[in-house]
Amino acid sequence: MGERRFSGRRVIVTGAARGIGRATADRFAEDGAAVAVVDLDAGAAQAAAEAIAAAHGTMAVGIACDVSVRDQVEAMVAEVARRLGGVDVLVNNAGVTRDNLIHKMEDEDWDLVMNVHLRGAFLCSRAAQRHMVEQRYGKIVNISSTSALGNRGQVNYSTAKAGLQGFTRSLALELGRFNINVNAVAPGFIDTEMTQLTARRLGHEPEAYRQMRAKTIAIGRVGVPRDVANLVCFLSSDEAGFVSGQVVYASGGPETRRG
Ligand code: NAP
Repeated sequence: MGERRFSGRRVIVTGAARGIGRATADRFAEDGAAVAVVDLDAGAAQAAAEAIAAAHGTMAVGIACDVSVRDQVEAMVAEVARRLGGVDVLVNNAGVTRDNLIHKMEDEDWDLVMNVHLRGAFLCSRAAQRHMVEQRYGKIVNISSTSALGNRGQVNYSTAKAGLQGFTRSLALELGRFNINVNAVAPGFIDTEMTQLTARRLGHEPEAYRQMRAKTIAIGRVGVPRDVANLVCFLSSDEAGFVSGQVVYASGGPETRRG
């Protein structure tokens, strides 16, 4: 195949065995990147990497890693650098929800969500930026959420996603001088296992919940993982070279809080 937008680029996507991360890894590979599919589940990461490599004729490796554990993250980034030959792009996508009203929220629900989203993005970015600074080139995209604007039942998740926006701006200021762009994408409702779980928790069938939510979205539909993947890839491309420290909402309308 000829030259593609990300030919020669080495990309890490965390939480990439399914959902938005999977679509993002796939979209990068479609445009020629070598990708590391990083996920908690080794088998799922490996299977996704094999499918991506077969679909696009690119290199894709599956690596098991809990992004909230420092030693695992350090080992993961070192393995990517060794197997793919470097690190050009990091997408901090791995995420979990543990929704509840505050009076029912356990300490563990708070800590897990902070650890995966915030500590995870910190550990992965710190490890990846060493490679990026050395080569004077890099792109980091953090996955935030419209929940950062406030969402009932999500004080933990909303706080973490708002925190990622501050992390994005500060990191952009620190790393800009090394030709590293740092941005955030804040999706609205995207149809994945995460939102199917939310539907069930609220007592709805996923399809009925999707239709209900679509009515509240200006563009008249819920999002699909590829909607987010397309934007992440644009922000990771050289066409977006003068865009840094920004939070771009992908929510089918202007950013608002619900409820
Ligand atoms: P998803 O389908 O639940 O996928 C999340 C992936 O992250 C799973 O493969 C999961 O692995 C992995 N993961 C969880 N904890 C991890 C950890 N500690 N280390 C490594 N991987 C981990 O969710 P999604 O909807 O695609 O969400 C992806 C990102 O977008 C998340 O950051 C989410 O908060 C954000 N987001 C989603 C929506 C939406 O509407 N779906 C909206 C705004 C933002 P396991 O399966 O092994 O647990």
